[in-house]
Amino acid sequence: MKQVYEFKDGGKEMVALLGGKGANLAEMAKIDLPIPKGIIISTTACNDYFKNDKKLSSVLEEEILTNIRVLEYETGKKFQSTKPLLVSVRSGAPVSMPGMMDTILNLGFNDYVAEKMLEITKDEKFVYTSYLRFVQMFSEIAKGINRKKFMHLKATDYKAQIIESKNIYREECGEMFPENYKAQILIAVKSIFDSWNNDRAILYRKLHNIDNNMGTAVVIQEMVFGNFNDKSGTGVLFTRNPSTGENKIFGEVLLNAQGEDIVAGIRTPDNIELLKTSMPNIYNELADTVKKLEKHNRDMQDVEFTIEDSKLYILQTRNGKRTAEASLKIAMDLVKEGIITKEEAILKVEPASLNKLLNGDFEEKYLKEATLLTKGLAASSGVAVGRIMFDAKRVKIREKTILVREETSPEDLQGMALAQGIVTLKGGATSHGAVVARGMGKCCVTGCSEIKIDEINKTMTVGKHTLKEGDFISVSGHTGEIYLGKIPLKENSFSDELKEFVSWASEIKRMGVRMNADTPEDVKQGKAFGAKGIGLCRTEHMFFKKDKIWTIREFILSDRGEEKEKALKKLHNLQKEDFLNIFKILNGDEANIRLLDPPVHEFLPKTLEDKKKMAEILSISLEDIEKRIYRLKDENPMLGHRGCRLGVSYPELYRIQARAIVEAAYECEKKGIKVHPEIMIPFIMESKELAYLRKEIEEEIESFFKEVGATVEYKLGTMIEIPRACLLANEIAEYADFFSFGTNDLTQMSMGLSRDDSVKFLDDYREKGIWEGEPFYSIDTKSVTKLVEIGVKNGKTTKPNLQIGVCGEHGGDPKSIEFFEGQKFDYVSCSPFRVPTAILAAAQSYLKLKR
Ligand code: PEP
Ligand code: MG
Repeated sequence: MKQVYEFKDGGKEMVALLGGKGANLAEMAKIDLPIPKGIIISTTACNDYFKNDKKLSSVLEEEILTNIRVLEYETGKKFQSTKPLLVSVRSGAPVSMPGMMDTILNLGFNDYVAEKMLEITKDEKFVYTSYLRFVQMFSEIAKGINRKKFMHLKATDYKAQIIESKNIYREECGEMFPENYKAQILIAVKSIFDSWNNDRAILYRKLHNIDNNMGTAVVIQEMVFGNFNDKSGTGVLFTRNPSTGENKIFGEVLLNAQGEDIVAGIRTPDNIELLKTSMPNIYNELADTVKKLEKHNRDMQDVEFTIEDSKLYILQTRNGKRTAEASLKIAMDLVKEGIITKEEAILKVEPASLNKLLNGDFEEKYLKEATLLTKGLAASSGVAVGRIMFDAKRVKIREKTILVREETSPEDLQGMALAQGIVTLKGGATSHGAVVARGMGKCCVTGCSEIKIDEINKTMTVGKHTLKEGDFISVSGHTGEIYLGKIPLKENSFSDELKEFVSWASEIKRMGVRMNADTPEDVKQGKAFGAKGIGLCRTEHMFFKKDKIWTIREFILSDRGEEKEKALKKLHNLQKEDFLNIFKILNGDEANIRLLDPPVHEFLPKTLEDKKKMAEILSISLEDIEKRIYRLKDENPMLGHRGCRLGVSYPELYRIQARAIVEAAYECEKKGIKVHPEIMIPFIMESKELAYLRKEIEEEIESFFKEVGATVEYKLGTMIEIPRACLLANEIAEYADFFSFGTNDLTQMSMGLSRDDSVKFLDDYREKGIWEGEPFYSIDTKSVTKLVEIGVKNGKTTKPNLQIGVCGEHGGDPKSIEFFEGQKFDYVSCSPFRVPTAILAAAQSYLKLKR
């Protein structure tokens, strides 16, 4: 099978084989863009190399060299001839892994080539710095020689430095520096393959869930020199502003320089606008070319270009990384400009980024009094408040940390991923820190040159302030401002633009998105965010607000008989009022109300003061209260007397709640407000529990209907949140009009992991590589999903049209939502602020699974 491709043989559909960079170059060649000529060695060749004990097969070597001859023909140049060809050798995986793998530039140099180049350019500095750069890069990348070895060369002129560098190579490798281009190419290809498995690439893949078996392609391309003369330069641009999304070219250029100078932050680049005046023709050609590219690739592009002696070359293009804000604006603008469809726009925006948009800024009124420490470059929007940390390796998962670094490097990746925000002293808008932070959707400020870090004493000084590691700062990626201490964050905002985008997603999705809401305020909020109906109203939470907690405490701690009756009445009145308010706001949307499920310990009075107050309410002694609390205390409350078990012990409790629901529904309907109540029973493990409670509740409701001589429609169903309930879902479904999966408890019980305590030790698991991720956030695909599948299948065996939803935390998690879509759930339900994310994730899952 062919392993080496000319650009003309490829296209963007061949990403898996040619890597992102290779496929892109092939695509650019197709639309006649000015790109330097080159060839691509496939990812299959890379994988074969690893299978073949890290050896290049003779067949592959031959194929590379044959294609090199074609490249020579196409460029009209020849390696190590009077018109010498020089090439770059770059990695290019199927998925973008910026800066994680290696590149070798100016390959093909030897003394003879330098001589010939000098004859052509008459520029000694250019020729010898290019040659020197090649020797050092080759030594470092291909042979792993530490860069520091070249930092203290004794020679002062470049020519002598080249000799010195080659001597270092010989000492370190025990062999001469390869002068012949064929050897140089083959060694370089091998080392780029090897870089697929360097530590930072492996970590990056782990963090981004990238398959380790993809392998990287290698692109060998004619060198063009941005440092050729004053009519040369190099730059990086985004076709739209990656921070705000504004439709205006945003980028940087460095005249008379090579691309690496920008990326490494060695020289501070100029704004791309400079080209408008210094090389207007080039600017216009560039602007036209990149717009063409954007249209062709149907997305905002991140483009690297070089100008060599007044000729423009496009080196690379990819979909640009962007902030949450820019992502939304760009996707919507592209639809409005007629470039993409709404479906494509929906697939372009990361669902979790909507959370960031809703959570994004400081409370302005506090800014006036805050102490502004300094201002850098607003490189990635969002805000962050946290403790200063100078060492990326020591950033911990549970601490709110701001990573402050001189500059970031790929080694800092893990710390960057864990930090709340990132501040760098050096670097521009396209430096490593900025690009990676934007990709992570993380607040980042770069170029804070006024900050001085003292690594030894672990302090930083800015103006008259000296701050220690661990001190709090607040960072704005919107403005680049850094403040002393903690600044409160703004109430969340839901812009018109975001609202419109969510409405597009709503039209596309199949599954319903409901909200978990317990108060009228929550219901209003969730509805405004686009939720249709309540998927879980935890009635015990309705007592958390104001002084309502005393009503539920009274019920729990009262003795059977008169005391309980009195408490029940109060409970009934309070609940009915709440239901009335909620039904009015819902105005006809479904309202799933769960009967009491308090792990009792959450409600028992804890302080002496509260116990005294309770004694007073029940008119009993403090000693009696202590006794009752003692009796009610479960040793293992999460598995104790909770959920329907309370209903079985105190059926009057569930009866009164059900009555409050239908009474409120009846009163609303009388006023012409439509209501769809769903009464949900929690913690069922056995169908007989549900049969018993259903009978009790139906009796109570029937007696109410008789009293008023009317009926209202309602559904009665159950949560499926105990593994046994999944296994016996066929029996349980006999008595249920609907199932709602409680994946919080289901996770707790199927994994044996306490919902409350697992944070204490899961970090240790993650650090030791035993466990990844957070099972209470994203559904465990090896256990919990299996139980859900069984539950769905068994439930539908009994009732094929059984309504099925989820109301655990996973109902707001994009990855879990994809699983629920696959299981054809009727709806997911999540907290109001996650509703926009859930709607987008539901639409994306639908589009992906439909394909
Ligand atoms: C669940 O267990 O998933 C659930 C939604 O119920 P709760 O979190 O109230 O136990
Ligand atoms: Mg539960």
